[in-house]
Amino acid sequence: MAKLYFYYSAMNAGKSTILLQSSYNYQERGMETLLFSPVIDTRYKKKTICSRIGLEASSNPFSPEDNLYEQVKESLEKTNLKCILVDEAQFLTKAQVFQLSEVVDKLNIPVLTYGLRSDFRGEPFMGSLYLLVLADEIIEIKTICYCGRKAIMNMRIDAEHRKVIKGEQIEIGGNERYIAVCRRHFNLGGIGELKV
Ligand SMILES: [Zn+2]
Repeated sequence: MAKLYFYYSAMNAGKSTILLQSSYNYQERGMETLLFSPVIDTRYKKKTICSRIGLEASSNPFSPEDNLYEQVKESLEKTNLKCILVDEAQFLTKAQVFQLSEVVDKLNIPVLTYGLRSDFRGEPFMGSLYLLVLADEIIEIKTICYCGRKAIMNMRIDAEHRKVIKGEQIEIGGNERYIAVCRRHFNLGGIGELKV
């Protein structure tokens, strides 16, 4: 039976790298995959998922109004799809998470989603909230804070390396403005001697 998977982590833990590797593993065995990434992510050339270590693959950009179940169903008529992979899954809407659960339950295709649990204010992202509710499997991808503890929070910092506590939830564009930290250092707000 297919399952809905949610791989979560703090920023820069290598989610996109793992996603691309998983997709490659399917393709290597002759099974086709379909990749989704939010249109909000304009860091790289459109319709591409890039990892920080240089891997990349083409993807289908999704917007909040898109019905992902219908898109997968349509693709299934043309290709032998065996797996769906979603990058930056925190940007899924509640409805889209339900649509992905239908892909699993009605079309029997596994869906692997990768995303952040919370934003720089410590608030949950909507997509992740419903993935935590609906996913069959919830898997943590671990990364560490500069102090050596596990990093579970995402801190936004300004040019002077001070913690930013107000602003829009969505502001993709520069990893230098976010660092993954442990809860203790998120609450303290300092980044010590860290070079960023
Ligand atoms: Zn720490």
